[in-house]
Parts: sequence; structure tokens; C-alpha cells
Amino acid sequence: MSQPPDIFSYRKHWAHKLGTAPELPMSRAEMDLLGWDACDVVILTGDAYVDHPSFGMAIIGRLLEAQGFRVGIIAQPDWTSADDFRRLGRPTLCFGITAGNMDSMVNRYTADRRLRSDDAYTPDGAPNRRPDRAVTVYAQRAREAFKGVPIVLGGIEASLRRLAHYDHWSEQVRRSVLIDAKADLLIYGNAERALVELVHRLARGEPIEQIRDLRGTAFVTRGRPPGWHEIDARALERVAPLESGQCEIAPTDGPKTSGHRPERARTLVRLPSFEQVRKDPLLYAHASRILHLETNPGNARALVQAHGDRDVWINPPPLPLTTAELDRVFELPYARRPHSAYGAARIPAWEMIRFSVNIMRGCFGGCTFCSITEHEGRIIQNRSEDSILREIAEIRDRTAGFTGTISDLGGPTANMWRLGCKDARIESSCRRLSCVYPQICRNLDTNHGPLIQLYRRARALPGIKRVLIASGLRYDLAVRSPEYVRELATHHVGGYLKIAPEHTEPGPLSKMMKPGIGTYDRFKTLFDRYSREAGKEQYLIPYFIAAHPGTSDEDMLNLALWLKRNDFRPDQVQGFLPTPMAIASAMYHTGRNPLKRITRDSEHVSVVRKQRQRRLHKAFLRYHDPQNWPLLREALRAMGRADLIGNGKRHLVPSFQPAGTGATPEGQRRPPRERLVQTLTPGPPGPARRGRARRPPRS
Ligand code: SF4
Repeated sequence: MSQPPDIFSYRKHWAHKLGTAPELPMSRAEMDLLGWDACDVVILTGDAYVDHPSFGMAIIGRLLEAQGFRVGIIAQPDWTSADDFRRLGRPTLCFGITAGNMDSMVNRYTADRRLRSDDAYTPDGAPNRRPDRAVTVYAQRAREAFKGVPIVLGGIEASLRRLAHYDHWSEQVRRSVLIDAKADLLIYGNAERALVELVHRLARGEPIEQIRDLRGTAFVTRGRPPGWHEIDARALERVAPLESGQCEIAPTDGPKTSGHRPERARTLVRLPSFEQVRKDPLLYAHASRILHLETNPGNARALVQAHGDRDVWINPPPLPLTTAELDRVFELPYARRPHSAYGAARIPAWEMIRFSVNIMRGCFGGCTFCSITEHEGRIIQNRSEDSILREIAEIRDRTAGFTGTISDLGGPTANMWRLGCKDARIESSCRRLSCVYPQICRNLDTNHGPLIQLYRRARALPGIKRVLIASGLRYDLAVRSPEYVRELATHHVGGYLKIAPEHTEPGPLSKMMKPGIGTYDRFKTLFDRYSREAGKEQYLIPYFIAAHPGTSDEDMLNLALWLKRNDFRPDQVQGFLPTPMAIASAMYHTGRNPLKRITRDSEHVSVVRKQRQRRLHKAFLRYHDPQNWPLLREALRAMGRADLIGNGKRHLVPSFQPAGTGATPEGQRRPPRERLVQTLTPGPPGPARRGRARRPPRS
């Protein structure tokens, strides 16, 4: 991989002379105060505008401002007409459109498709401030407001819907969002590199339809440009015809390869078309597998998928930012608070992160239910120690209400900072989906020394009383470094440490690409020992997923028995939510396992679809809740395990029913609070943030 230009090395646009805005304008009046007659870029976002590097619109806005462009923000516009989309006037270069830090459907609905009653990214948590499928709706309104202005999509919703994808809420395979939104370009993953180059080129007068060479972008096109070699995706894995009459893909039509290898950078992989994957689950599973195998920026090829007579073309993923670049992105002149237009309103997502620091991006875990890899990539992008310490000092000195406790030093996975492949050459040719599953790769550097050093320096800063670690940590990595576990348990746990084994049984764990529960036990032994040695009474809080593909009723029963044995009574349940593009979602939709080569005879995966069975799986997690006892008793009898019903210690469910419990009509029962699992990645680029009122662990 040749290193691209530093994103801060471009010649600044003329408007840099107008200086830095104290906060990016959300109204014409603010633009007037700044002396702007127009914005160069207007960002439309489904979230409230918080000028902080945990929020995508702020990163993108401040980054483009640093390049000399005038950037305005229209946050949570009224989408019922185009009026609100005209608020800042016609942008000179483009609209940048994002649903916000979450997919709008994940934001608005539970896994059981119930409308959520609040929205953490909205002032005072108010619901209904964004439409369903926000990216598509905003793009339509923006086009209506100002015809001819280029429309660029970004953020997690656009990123994870860049190809034909299974949509849980409509229970169908939907087209690429590029087609529905009629957008000119889509930027996926961390957007900085592509966006900076794109906007400079637009400013130089290059038409957007000619900008086709940027990594991390996707667009709609017709026909293959000259000089490209095309491979049928089935040929990559020698997939036999899946079902007779179902594969209609033309054979490879590129030049014959005997005698020479076609240049990889000029090779495209043609996936089964939208029409094919919509009709045929096997082809969907196959396309999902190929997509995930083509995510390493070191060796990924362009992907193409026909939608009717047009192609959706996905360029290879962006190259990771260097540490120096990432440091500058995080140290742009953010106001580090919500826009002043919100007054005293509280924005829960901001409350959650305002005393925390994001130290990295990316994750090499590869958990199949999580989309972080598809969005941020498998290569960890690290901030420098000094940059992180400077941000802690900023929080201490500038954030109102700071009392000396940093609530998190984390990221997608707390303990992957500075970890990665030992050899850049091997890394660039690697095609594994995870560096830690099924075993930790021997090429992975698992040295936690730098992270320990970072923790020590952070808590030694004047004015810092405590530094907590709240992001999920990968405990199979942590057990390789007992010294790290000691450091963690001694100094960085606030009584409870949340970690996520996700299950106890090998069946579902193998479909999640998670380590066995034995690793959790080893971590617990270390954690308990070091907590004792530190004289601290503190506990692990494990999280589990119900109804994940590959989970049987027996698996959930065994998990419930494990919980009872270990005296855990979860107060939250997490039902599997098939988010767009995750591998587990492909399992859910197709009943096949894309972790292995897909053929007509390839592995079937059991899937929990029916509401009753989903409720049962969640009920096993809350076996102690009397509301669940009638359902559990019925299931245990059907499973031939009536021996587990009774009032002794060895029983799972009592035989009696407390008065006033368990009789609520099913449809009226208030469900227990659900944990959100989607990786909440701000906007086009951005740090991974997850959870609602508190960020849950993932790894
Ligand atoms: S070789 Fe191993 S450590 Fe390196 S990228 Fe591949 S899986 Fe990860």
C-alpha cells in the first residue's frame, strides 16, 4: 500500500481567511455574524449537533473547516417539506448527508420492531425527531430544495447499506441506499481521506460524476471502464452452481489470465445482482461472504453489484489514518459541547461521553453481530499517548461539571490500543475475518505494555482523581497480560466491570466468532485475585445475547443454568438485532453460514424468527423474573426438563406463581429494558460509541 497524502497537507481553500467558527452555524443569522454569504458544504444530520469528536457531524465539519471550507449544519431538520433544507441557502459545493451516529431504524425501533420512546441523540431524549431511513429522506428533500447540488452520503446508515442488504424492519432485501437516495456519491467507513480529497476537487471545479477513483467511495454507474479485469464472485471460491437455474451470472468476461496475473488494483469482483440476492438466499449468503473477505485495504478489490441495468460500484476500503493524522482530527477546535441553540436541554449521548476519551478506531475481533469491522475496518488506528493526555487535560480544564473522574479511556474495544499485526506485509495480504478467532493469531502483537503505561500517565495528571475503563474489553487478549488485568482491577474499575461473553455454549459462540466461556473463567480468576489483592470488592457483569443465529432452546437453557449457578440475575436483556451488513444478519436472513464457503450443501444455521421463541430465549436470560415463569415452565415441560421446575436450589423455575405476576396479556407486557448492540459510530468517520444511557461492552 503506498501512503496517500497527509489529509492536512492540501492547500487550503480561500475561505480559511474567514477564520475559525466558535461553533459551526446552524442558521443564517450565525452565518451573517461569521461574514459568510454561503456555505461551501451543508451537513444534514439526524442527530443534534454536538461539537465534540465523538459526533460525526462535528468531525466532518471541523475537518473541512480546517481545509478552508465554510461548513454549516442542519441538524434534525423537519423532513415534512423542503423548507428546512433551505435554511442555510444553497451550498457552493455539496450536501453531506448522514443519518447520525446510528442507523435510523436501529435508533427508532427495538429488535422486536417496537418504536422506542426516547432518542439519546436528541435534546432531552425526545423521540421522533428523525424519519425512518433518514439518509434517503434527507437526500430527497435536499434535492428538492436545491436542484443540481451534489449529494454525498456518509455515516453508519449509508455505509452499512451501500450494497443490497437484508433489512430487518421490512423483512426484505433492499437495494443499495445509493439507488434509493439517488445520491451522487457514498463515502463509507472512516471518511476523512475520501472527503478531504473530494471536496478539494469539487472546489477546483471537477464534476462529481467524474470523481470515481477515491477509496472508500461508492457510486452508481453503467458499464465497465476500459482496462478493468472482471471476476465473477463465484469463481473466487470455486462455488458450484448453487441451485439449478438460480445462478444466472455470466462467466468471467475479463481477459484470460494464463501467463500473467491481472493487476489487482484494476480487478473488480462482480457480486450476484440485487435481483439475484433478493430472490435467492444462498446467493445472498455468498455475496455477504465475499464482501467480508474483501475488507482488508491491503488486498481488497472493487466490488460491483448490478441493480437492474445499472451497477453499484464500491471502491476498496480507505487506508487507515496515521497516528499523526488521527491526533489532528481529534484536536481540531471543537467547542466540546452541544450547539448553544439547544440552551439548557440535555442530550443524553453527550452526557454519556463528555468525560470520556476515545483513544482508537477499528476492531480486529470480527464478532459477527457487530458492524464495526465493516465500517471502521480491522486495522487499529491509534492516537498517540500525548494526544490522549492533552484531551484529558482539555476535559479537566474546559468541561463544565468535571469532578476529576474520566469515565472511559476506550474505543470499539478498550484493550486493542496499539495492538496489531506484527508484520505489515503479512497484514496487507491477510484474508482472515478475525485476528482472535478461532484462536489468537500468532502474528498478532498482544503486548499490553503501552496501554498500561498510558493508564499510569493518565491517572498521574494533576487534577485527575480516577480514570475508569467502561468500553468493552477483549478478555481473551487481556488474559495474555496478567499485569494488565492487575492494573485494571487495581485502579480502573468503579465497582463493576461489564464484559460480554455473549453466550456460554459452543454452538452460538461459533456463529458469533467469540471465545469459549473457559476464557471468561480465566479472566474472572485473574480479576477476582487482583481485586482481592487491591482490597476492593468489585464484580464482573457479564452480558449475553438471546436468539442469536445458531442458538437452540437447549443452548439458552444451559446459559440460564450457568447464570443461576453463578448467581447472576441480568436486569437487561439483549435480543439479537439483525443490523444491515453484519455477517450474523446474513445468517439470520439466509439460514446459512457465510463464515464458510457457501454451496448448496454448506452448513445450515438454525434461526430464531418467531416472536414466541424470541421471547422464550429472552425469558431464559431473566429466569428469575416471575413474569417469565409460566412461559419457562411450559417450555421446560416441552423440552422434557420438567425436573427443573420446583422450589429447590437445583431448580430453575419455581412451581408456584406469586400473586399478580405472570398473567399480563402478552401483547401488553412491558418488555425489559433492551441493550442496544449496534456499534454507534459517528457520521462518516469517527470513534466508535455504543449504548444508550451508558455504553455497554461489546467484546
Ligand atoms: S496475519 Fe494474523 S494478526 Fe496479521 S492481520 Fe492476519 S489475522 Fe491479524
